[in-house]
Amino acid sequence: MIVILKTGATAEQVSEVKSFLEEKGFSIHFSEGVEKTLLGAVGAPDQDKELLKGQLVAYPQVEDVHIIAKPYKLVNRDFHPDNTVIDVCGVKIGGPEVVVMAGPCTVENPEMLFETAQMVKESGAKILRGGAYKPSTSPYSFHGMGIEGLKLLREAKGRTGLPIITEVMDTRDVDLVGEYTDIFQVGTRNMANFSLLKEIGNTRIPVMLKRGMSSTIEEWLQAAEYIASRGNYDIIMCERGIRTFETAYRNVLDVNAIGEIHQRSHLPVCGDASHGTGRWQLVPSSTKAALAAGADCLMIEVHPNPRVALKDGAQSQTFSDFRRLMSELRPLAEAIGRSM
Ligand code: PEP
Ligand code: MN
Repeated sequence: MIVILKTGATAEQVSEVKSFLEEKGFSIHFSEGVEKTLLGAVGAPDQDKELLKGQLVAYPQVEDVHIIAKPYKLVNRDFHPDNTVIDVCGVKIGGPEVVVMAGPCTVENPEMLFETAQMVKESGAKILRGGAYKPSTSPYSFHGMGIEGLKLLREAKGRTGLPIITEVMDTRDVDLVGEYTDIFQVGTRNMANFSLLKEIGNTRIPVMLKRGMSSTIEEWLQAAEYIASRGNYDIIMCERGIRTFETAYRNVLDVNAIGEIHQRSHLPVCGDASHGTGRWQLVPSSTKAALAAGADCLMIEVHPNPRVALKDGAQSQTFSDFRRLMSELRPLAEAIGRSM
């Protein structure tokens, strides 16, 4: 931490701040300029820096405090330089192969799920997605089939061999959903639901943490740190689009975030252009952008007939759209030294 003292701080005031920091276990490096005195405080890694900053700025002689260390350690690449590779029933996420997770937004009935599962598998997807518990902005829209949806996902896995990813929204459902799923999905609306993150952190089931639609990179990584702090390190970071001033599409897929997470963290990153755009016409190009930006996996919503989809029809790929997209992604993956 660097503490900047106000111009004119007396020797007594400087030593008051110095003593405060030393009591917390820091060693102090002084830097006295013509106008300002800076105190560099180092060597107390376990102190809560945000808390200390709040206390320090309460001293009238303190002008500002800069925290240097990142507030996340377990998910920080500085401490774990090697990429994390997550094994989901033999499918490796975070390695050289780019993994496609595809399926309907929501499990609607057995036929549409099994048909979609079969088709995405034949086209090269490695993981089946489908919501049984659906978050919604409106309390009046469809909220998923619940346990019946989970059972159908299990049957689809039995038929195709594809591992499952499905959302869990409530701490009370973690055990139940955990019996069925191979990857928990934490949705954008729950990224900062810290009780849910802790509960999932207590399991050893991989989790895909979607970025909150209005969350910064740092808040998102701190949410991941919550999960890791409970001992579950199998976390996939999913960029799914953020809110901006633009209203032409549902969200703006923040392609920068994919590279930024790779810079800061060892965790694998997923790009979800379905939610990231909200429009089926834009999903292929933005999925390619995510792949080119370094995504380790790609999430794509697919529906046999988006015109009757109970959710997210506007962003769902038809079967023929999906097949075409998969065939276009493969050479792109190879061009950047990856496989699909
Ligand atoms: C979903 O994956 O269908 C979903 C609801 O995602 P998000 O949380 O990103 O909106
Ligand atoms: Mn959806």
